[in-house]
Amino acid sequence: MPNIDSNFPTNSTTVADVLDDVSDNPMLASLADVQVPEALKEEAPPEDLVHRHFDDSAFWRRFLPYADVTRDEFLDHKFQNKHSVQSVAQLEQLLEGVADPKFIEDVKTGLAQAPMNMRISPYLLSLIDWDEPYRDPIRIQFIPVASSRLADHPKLELDSLHEQDDSPTPGLVHRYPDKALFLPLDVCPVYCRFCTRSYAIGSDTDMVDKVSYSPKSDRWRSAFAYIASRPEIEDIVISGGDMYMMPANKLKEVGETLLAIPHIRRIRFASKGPAVMPMKLLSDQKWFDALCDIVDKGRAMAKEVCLHTHFNATNEITGITRKAMDKLFKRGVQVRNQAVLMRHVNDSSTEMVSLVKQLSYMNVQPYYVYQHDMVQGVEDLRTTVKHSEELERHVRGATAGFNTPTFVNDVPGGGGKRDLHSYDHYNPITGISVYRSPAVNDKVYLYFDPLHLLPEEGRKRWANDYEHEAMIREALCAADALKLERAVG
Ligand SMILES: *Cc1c(COP(=O)(O)O)cnc(C)c1O
Ligand code: SF4
Repeated sequence: MPNIDSNFPTNSTTVADVLDDVSDNPMLASLADVQVPEALKEEAPPEDLVHRHFDDSAFWRRFLPYADVTRDEFLDHKFQNKHSVQSVAQLEQLLEGVADPKFIEDVKTGLAQAPMNMRISPYLLSLIDWDEPYRDPIRIQFIPVASSRLADHPKLELDSLHEQDDSPTPGLVHRYPDKALFLPLDVCPVYCRFCTRSYAIGSDTDMVDKVSYSPKSDRWRSAFAYIASRPEIEDIVISGGDMYMMPANKLKEVGETLLAIPHIRRIRFASKGPAVMPMKLLSDQKWFDALCDIVDKGRAMAKEVCLHTHFNATNEITGITRKAMDKLFKRGVQVRNQAVLMRHVNDSSTEMVSLVKQLSYMNVQPYYVYQHDMVQGVEDLRTTVKHSEELERHVRGATAGFNTPTFVNDVPGGGGKRDLHSYDHYNPITGISVYRSPAVNDKVYLYFDPLHLLPEEGRKRWANDYEHEAMIREALCAADALKLERAVG
């Protein structure tokens, strides 16, 4: 075939050489002998394409306790629920001969100091590398150990987002003008160490007496009544607890009630489920249909109903996940992801870029990456604002813009989500960042980096109690000066 323009050289390769089988498709077949234009860039090395690999093997059989579990059993959500581990005793029994007894001791002490209970699915348990549990990103998120515990930041509180201050009725948070957050229940398929709602989610622990958000119908009715009474609310987030734990008929009740309210235009169901028990979407057809039914009803009314999920690391994603996400996509359910940035889980640019690309590959749109909230007992998981900003630079540009997550900081005290970069002032030495949130109110909000990651100068200042207020005052003054500078400049 002649060259179109000799200024654009081709090489001797043809399309048929690069694509395995072009004969199936007439469009590709017509290209079979076209010579490929000379490349200007090196081809991506295989390690840049790892996000296309989805483990379809019976990986759980490599985990000794599940060596005999068949595919049918493992893929059944009832097996997953029934065998979820909820106590150290169960974990100890399961891990006998698999994990070091010293590790189990470490978990025992860790749990006694943690604000969250433990609950972890067989799916996740089987994906943990038990030879290296201390480094494993799934273990880090769900199983606390005493040895990695660090003291909480002196400025940290239990309900760091002040959700209870913005609640007109229990389990409903109305912070932003046109959207509200509904927390219909207080149980989840797993319990995450880093949960922002450790003030409510799961049962009481040695550390925390929880606020109860049990699915009582009078509490639900009161939330619906409030939403119906506020015409400015267009958008409802239904979050955790987790709708994965809601039976199909309750899911329908929530969805249909909200859709019936005329001013509601958008509903988001938020669930950790796809990341921790993807097989439910394949095996619990009744539940899957209930969800799709609400999505279809919404679409018929020209209202958006979608699913927001919460993958944090590529280790959580397998061939089962891909099948589940494909099933949702084919049924027309839009899925978006909100990840939490955590040290040693997803804080390297390689891992974060891989996660973003793997989600995109499954048609899950990476929506947010959250700066870790200032919650109790998980100081080892937080990173600095500086680190997150650097990570963001690596992520933006790596793939399509609409699949590029916004890095946000949900600032302590109830200012809401702010673009991570949008602080009025940030001092990486004291680790204090100052944010404003004009759409919510005219206050200023402070976020504090974890002390152990600050330079020595900063750590020394935090070691003196009397310096705390001085550092905060400095930050507030600097923020104000910056604001003035912008106004005149
Ligand atoms: C996160 C959140 C929302 C939804 O915010 P988006 O930025 O639209 O995703 C709504 N209400 C509360 C209280 C929230 O924390
Ligand atoms: S699934 Fe969500 S609400 Fe439940 S414990 Fe985890 S972070 Fe908290």
